[in-house]
Amino acid sequence: MKYIPFSKPDFSHLEEQACLEVIRSGWLTAGPKTALFEKKFGEYIDVKHALAVNSATSALHLGLKSLGIKSGDYVLTTTYTFTATADAIRYVDANPIFVDIDPKTLCLDPEKIEDKIQILKKRRELNKLKAIIPVHFGGHSCPMDEICEIARKYNLKIEEDAAHAFPTKYKGRFIGSIGDVTCFSFYSTKPITTGEGGMLCTDSDEIAEKVRITRLHGISKDSWKRFINFDRGWEYDVVNLGYKYNFTDIGAAIGLIQLKKAEKMRKAREKISQNYFNNFSDIPGLILPYPACSFKEHSWHLFVIQIDGKRTPSGINRNQMIRILKKANIGFGIHYKPLHKMTYYRQIYSFKSDEFQVAEKIFNRCLSIPIYSALRESEQSYIIETIRKALLSDKKN
Ligand SMILES: *Cc1c(COP(=O)(O)O)cnc(C)c1O
Repeated sequence: MKYIPFSKPDFSHLEEQACLEVIRSGWLTAGPKTALFEKKFGEYIDVKHALAVNSATSALHLGLKSLGIKSGDYVLTTTYTFTATADAIRYVDANPIFVDIDPKTLCLDPEKIEDKIQILKKRRELNKLKAIIPVHFGGHSCPMDEICEIARKYNLKIEEDAAHAFPTKYKGRFIGSIGDVTCFSFYSTKPITTGEGGMLCTDSDEIAEKVRITRLHGISKDSWKRFINFDRGWEYDVVNLGYKYNFTDIGAAIGLIQLKKAEKMRKAREKISQNYFNNFSDIPGLILPYPACSFKEHSWHLFVIQIDGKRTPSGINRNQMIRILKKANIGFGIHYKPLHKMTYYRQIYSFKSDEFQVAEKIFNRCLSIPIYSALRESEQSYIIETIRKALLSDKKN
């Protein structure tokens, strides 16, 4: 079998055509295509402002800045995420407060958030806690009702990391307008892609205006407008320290095509997940995802299986399975090595060894297998066959 990559974008001649059009137009950076992509994306998820930037990491950073998170503040988030989530907290010189996850959804567990808040209270540090970043892990929405309730109770802002969650719904409503700010990723492996890219969404005019200025060098369009007259059209003002986080029209042109087929691609991933459930559910020691939502509200960005080597008929564990997949030419991922285990975060903060028991356990067992709309049926069958054979074969030795 030819190598089956862990992830692969679903592109056709339409994306190629769209790029060519932009190249021939002569306008490559953020311009008319970006404006149109923002409009269409915002309409799709029903949010007032959708602001395109060059990555979700940039969006997370700008979001925290515009929410007023600053040096010394605390921001609570999951340890079970990609480092970008916590990096953004460090960019504003705030400190991440990591919390353990729900073993079923692998998302933040509201009870554990409460427990952590009580600990901060006891330490008289609760006043430093300013925000929560829920991560919609693998495309499964976090329990937003409970998280919003906690945010209200303790006066915290919510910035959602929705890098995996387009299109994901929570109780019938698209992820993107629940928290104060929601950040999407269009990185190459994500559910829709523009190569690199991100979108910051908010219903707040005030946040949107701050982000608009900060994403491009702190240049204020308003003051620019004030100065515009026939002979001074060149004049602009820098009102803040800003960043070079703007998007490009080439990316936007690709994004517009991807947006149109986002639900079709999601449905294809849902079908693959069904195929995996149908063919894996009878294997002892193979733990499958346990969605608490309906299948059609899940973006199915990741399909994370867990292998309990003590219970599999063959005695194969996760690390042995990795070797088998490599030999079989099947790409895989590990989502995630928890952030509290990373050198950078361990060096700055001290963690108690038993603080993140669920994350530790799942990290040792987890394996993400390919799930994307360009994954052919024959490839799915080959993946299923390879994993079944490895787990069900007679004990080695
Ligand atoms: C990919 C990812 C990001 C960062 O997205 P970029 O667009 O690559 O910056 C943030 N959070 C999570 C959970 C991710 O998986």
